[in-house]
Amino acid sequence: MICSYCQKDGRMTGEHIIPQALLDMFPECDFNIRYDKEIKYFKSENIVINDVCDNCNNVILSELDSYGSGMVRDYFVNTYEAEDKLVLPYNYSLLSRWLLKIMFNIARTKKSEIQTTSFESNLDYILGRTETSAMPISVFGGLSVDMTPLPEFFFDNMKLGVFFNPIFVKGSLIELVNPLENEFRVNKEKENMEFKKLLLSCVLRFGSGMFLVLLWEEEITPTEKQTMERLIEHLYPYALLKSDFENTTIKRSTHAYNYHHYYIIDTSAGLSMADQTNSFLPTRNNPSELRKTSSVEWDQHVTKLRENRASKRQKERDRKRKRKNKKVKN
Ligand SMILES: [Zn+2]
Repeated sequence: MICSYCQKDGRMTGEHIIPQALLDMFPECDFNIRYDKEIKYFKSENIVINDVCDNCNNVILSELDSYGSGMVRDYFVNTYEAEDKLVLPYNYSLLSRWLLKIMFNIARTKKSEIQTTSFESNLDYILGRTETSAMPISVFGGLSVDMTPLPEFFFDNMKLGVFFNPIFVKGSLIELVNPLENEFRVNKEKENMEFKKLLLSCVLRFGSGMFLVLLWEEEITPTEKQTMERLIEHLYPYALLKSDFENTTIKRSTHAYNYHHYYIIDTSAGLSMADQTNSFLPTRNNPSELRKTSSVEWDQHVTKLRENRASKRQKERDRKRKRKNKKVKN
């Protein structure tokens, strides 16, 4: 069998579509991916794809996984408040290659309708053989902050998810109908934003971390790409993670209505409009406080799940070490 990454023949191994370390950080979540219009749910453990050679899986890609998982562990297991800002340090090469790798893994799964060609032309970049990607890419970052009044379990615990071709709202998701009565409604006739020369886009959520990855057509000029990036930063609550920077300040990119539906990318204007609705609750109620109060038991349950998962992994490592030692002695 030929390895999907290095294109060489060899012994194939099971590569986790979503790194095991991430699944272990959020054991309460099923993992969510969306193909075009249909949402597909996975049970979080043991989702592997068996077309990656030992060297790619356990050396090259595993370096990317430990980088990405480390970032999530350090910054995105935490939850954030509405006005929080985070100065996110990053290594652009490792981060962008890690995100592309996860996207490519998902695009290769059986039911995916996503073309793998745009990833295949970037394989040398993903494997770290070239300094820049063959196809122009842009990476944006944001924070996922729960602004809803209800605990996570009311929805799908979508703390891990990868959605291709998210909806970029034009205008705002929530509209003010009558300012005097403070009357809002969901804008059902909303138009979606289209970006020139955009080939493929993807939103990835890992805990509180939101990443937008855009793959552009090969013929886009650097100036055109810059213009598109500026437009996105201007319209949407996402910050561009520049390839020549080492950190960027990111802020909240979700509101009460797209926190669980983050394949809807609402504008910054839409975000402040949504905030004004106070989750359609009377102004004396604070949605976040309500959620925190009703989440106490759930949060305890999640903490316990995490501890159990961690001790399970520790036992596995101990067993492996013992087996190794035995082999050495023999
Ligand atoms: Zn390989």
